[in-house]
Amino acid sequence: MVEATRGPVLIFMFGATGDLARRKLYPALYELFRKDYKFAVIGMARRQHTHESYRSMIDRTLNPSADQRRRFLKRFYYQPLDIGNPNHFVLLKNISDQIDSQYHLKGNRIFYLSLAPRFFGTATIHLKKSGLTETDGWKRLVIEKPFGNNLASARQLNSELLKVFDESEIYRIDHYLGKEMVQNIEALRFANPVFESVWNHRSIANVQITLSETLGVGDRANYYDQTGALLDMVQNHIMQLLTLTAMEPPSQFDPEDIRQEKVKVLKSIRPMSRDNIADKIVRAQYKAGVMPDGTRISGYHEENNINETSDTETFVAARFFIDNYRWTGVPFYIRTGKRMATKCTEVVIEFKDIPNNPYFHKFTHIGPNLLVIHIQPDAGLSLKLNVKQFSDDGETSPVSMNFSRTGKSKNVVPDAYERLLSDCLKGDSTNFTRWDEVAYSWALTDSIVATWNSVPLDYYEAGTMGPKSSDKLLAKDGFRWWPLTRME
Ligand code: NAP
Repeated sequence: MVEATRGPVLIFMFGATGDLARRKLYPALYELFRKDYKFAVIGMARRQHTHESYRSMIDRTLNPSADQRRRFLKRFYYQPLDIGNPNHFVLLKNISDQIDSQYHLKGNRIFYLSLAPRFFGTATIHLKKSGLTETDGWKRLVIEKPFGNNLASARQLNSELLKVFDESEIYRIDHYLGKEMVQNIEALRFANPVFESVWNHRSIANVQITLSETLGVGDRANYYDQTGALLDMVQNHIMQLLTLTAMEPPSQFDPEDIRQEKVKVLKSIRPMSRDNIADKIVRAQYKAGVMPDGTRISGYHEENNINETSDTETFVAARFFIDNYRWTGVPFYIRTGKRMATKCTEVVIEFKDIPNNPYFHKFTHIGPNLLVIHIQPDAGLSLKLNVKQFSDDGETSPVSMNFSRTGKSKNVVPDAYERLLSDCLKGDSTNFTRWDEVAYSWALTDSIVATWNSVPLDYYEAGTMGPKSSDKLLAKDGFRWWPLTRME
């Protein structure tokens, strides 16, 4: 059961000087401090810092208007530490015992591994050997993505973690699960009979999930060239969006019930095989092109640190089927890519037409009803309906009804990391990925990787929405990608 507590807890921040910690974790912790969460933090990395220079580094990550910074920063301590050196963990234990008693933290501990994945296993073993995980309070491990790079490596990593932590103590982050509108998918579906009653194969023609980026590989070239769009985006974020959209209602709002329903979806996705994969997947790489704002972009092969013969995909589109009663025959199309025309994440539900609808015969420009869940950059919903215009000729055309987080309420929407850290402090694991979710998702991804070399790599111009073959994937079924829309 979820504990409704706000601490107290000692947070061990591994990778305390890294990009993620500076850009996301300290600003999120500041917001939680303002909301009266009780914690102290020990930051660790190899480079030298005093407590004071570490606090100054954190200070620079905070919003200039942060008015409680002095009280906040006093709770941060620094301990130089190399993950490979067990003696450093012994020093860490000494300082952590002192801080624990100074702040009355009751032995509660969160170990946040904001580190390169190759350190996850070693870090947990040294935590155990040093006695840091033997505590009178509760303990939790927060682990960043990627969780392995296939099912075998994910299993290996998981078995290392399980030597030290119980599954219920492991919080695997997928920061998409902290986003406002991703969390809203459940409320939208299960709190609104008007949607739930039509959320099935009888009323839905297809589902389209897009996660498009305008950026290229930037300084992640080495990582990205070995990973590609399928492993970087589909195995985790897109599968999370798909399972939330397709899951059955949980019997109650308990983390395990919800995650169980998501696992059932993953188990029902039809696996891909060499015989059918060419029909279901498009893999492509960007060539030089021009972004909508006129910026000229070099092709993937011209990026720094990318091998000129690399065949890594920077774009994937796929058609999945979920073989269960609710979704039989409904295609779920997904696409994600870099250097696309627009940065956007959204889910589009396209509803079926009414049979023999006279309006469709008379007014050719009306279209199907669409429910669009805008995840980023906008956060909101739009519902496209056909409505008769206020005129005598009965002209009927599509209009969009929008619900969006704008104005004042936009400022109070917490960042994904703030929500996830808050959930972890409260012991609510709903929005973290359970091991079997990770495993089924990897099994599906592995089945694609094992066969997709038989699908030739396609190319698209930077600044477009992907190759023509992505459009053909839907056209074969009589559908098309709906244009991505910004909310007004
Ligand atoms: P990063 O900027 O490279 O930072 C890595 C951190 O680890 C630094 O503090 C580094 O400090 C420390 N470190 C490196 N080697 C170490 C060692 N042997 N012992 C102890 N500390 C060591 O990486 P990041 O971007 O913050 O990413 C951290 C994790 O978050 C990764 O798993 C990444 O995949 C994940 N992630 C990051 C983002 C993001 O936006 N950055 C988004 C999603 C997931 P020293 O060099 O001083 O040791």
